[in-house]
Amino acid sequence: RLYGPMRKNSIGVDLSQSGERGVLEENVARLEKESPLAAGPIISGKPATEGGADVFAPFDTARKIGTVLNAGEADVDAALDVAVKFQPEWDRLGGAARAKILSDMGDALEANMDRLCAILAEEAGKTFGDGIAEVREAVDFCRYYAVQAEEKFEGRTRLPGPAGETNHISLHGRGVFACISPWNFPLAIFTGQITAALGAGNTVIAKPAEQTPLIAYEAVRIWQAAGLPGEALHLLPGRGETVGARLTSDLRVAGVCFTGGTDTARIINKTLAGREGPIIPLIAETGGLNGMFVDTTALREQVVDDVIVSAFGSAGQRCSALRILFLPNDTADALIEGLCGAMDELKIGHPGKAETDVGPVIDDDALGILVDYVARMKEEATLIKQLDAPSGGHFFGPTVIELDSLDQIEKETFGPVLHIVRYDPDNIEKVGAALEAKGYGLTLGVHSRLESFAKKVQAAVHAGNTYVNRSMTGAVVGVQPFGGEGLSGTGPKAGGPHYMLRFAAERVLTVNI
Ligand code: GLU
Repeated sequence: RLYGPMRKNSIGVDLSQSGERGVLEENVARLEKESPLAAGPIISGKPATEGGADVFAPFDTARKIGTVLNAGEADVDAALDVAVKFQPEWDRLGGAARAKILSDMGDALEANMDRLCAILAEEAGKTFGDGIAEVREAVDFCRYYAVQAEEKFEGRTRLPGPAGETNHISLHGRGVFACISPWNFPLAIFTGQITAALGAGNTVIAKPAEQTPLIAYEAVRIWQAAGLPGEALHLLPGRGETVGARLTSDLRVAGVCFTGGTDTARIINKTLAGREGPIIPLIAETGGLNGMFVDTTALREQVVDDVIVSAFGSAGQRCSALRILFLPNDTADALIEGLCGAMDELKIGHPGKAETDVGPVIDDDALGILVDYVARMKEEATLIKQLDAPSGGHFFGPTVIELDSLDQIEKETFGPVLHIVRYDPDNIEKVGAALEAKGYGLTLGVHSRLESFAKKVQAAVHAGNTYVNRSMTGAVVGVQPFGGEGLSGTGPKAGGPHYMLRFAAERVLTVNI
């Protein structure tokens, strides 16, 4: 095998070194001086960008960073025509040959790390720490699914049978996959969906989030220069209501991979259920109402550190982010004091500056939802702390709200808002059951020196990813395969050994000689 034993996760950047930080800052400065970027549909390797609408930076609403030409109905048709026609050839190419292409795609992203980080800062408001982690995750997805493609999608496996008969099973692409990705990981999740689908032998039509077309366009251009055939992947930027709806209702689409809100996943699910023609899979990764349970044996400094990262890192715009912190009655005050002190150290601002800890939220709608939500919660619950936010962009100061009861929260609010609930650890089963009853199941955190406590929490609350005595975001490809249950998604684990099987058709051939 070419890749399996050799696979290594990507190489990071040491932000404590001023030289490495400087290179990143220079790239942002260069991008700011360049003429605005231009994005648009890429069909069969041919880009179209003329006449696009303006794209603005989330940290400076007056700063135009590029333009995007959104795809129309005719583009969806044209892309589907080519993708359908090319898919059997792409499937016949075999897992090993596709693995080479995926691996080259990963290398090409890694070689462009600095520029990609700059675009992530400008378009998605990602701090350097987040940007580097995101490019690395994208590279890791390419390499990980290359290994899987080679291991599982090359050749066929012999099965037992009676004398005179041979039986083989093999894995194939299903056809054309629609990959609909979110703005919060506009490179990593975009890449993960696409490479899993491609590696399994599908051709792909990718619809990036309408807020982040520039980074998607850049990635597709990089991949095509690295050898990905234009017929295998088509990029269609646009709105969910238009491009997404048109794609998911087209009978030529053989599967949908979606990451985003639970409500949108329901809409897609309904569309697929209402279609005539083949019954096709939906792979969905959605939101979370993620809790962290702390007991009196937990280490205070470690809890504070991990809560800051989990709740306010990436401006809380991760579906894995900590939303509800359960603190034991006996030590809650001391933990809240430590948390408020640590929050005072956070620097909120321009994501392209190395000292920034918390960047902006993505857009005006996101900001409006947070402002309204916190205004309402100030009436209904207790505001413990809210940091001031800079003006000029979509900034929202990290906020802590104490709830009287879990009944005061039902849904995920996407941003840097942390809820605290005090509880009696002797009642852990009851409190855990109340969280479980909300119906989500994405991430779960536990802080305790007692294994028995961690076990009780895990028995009460089911989550796709449970983290004990550490932060609860930043799952690493091949190390913490990521994905949830219930309202949090259909469950396959991105970056895990079974993920690509969801993109596959299994075929058995029996021959009587
Ligand atoms: N995989 C990411 C993490 O572990 C979260 C992905 C998401 O927000 O959709 O933090």
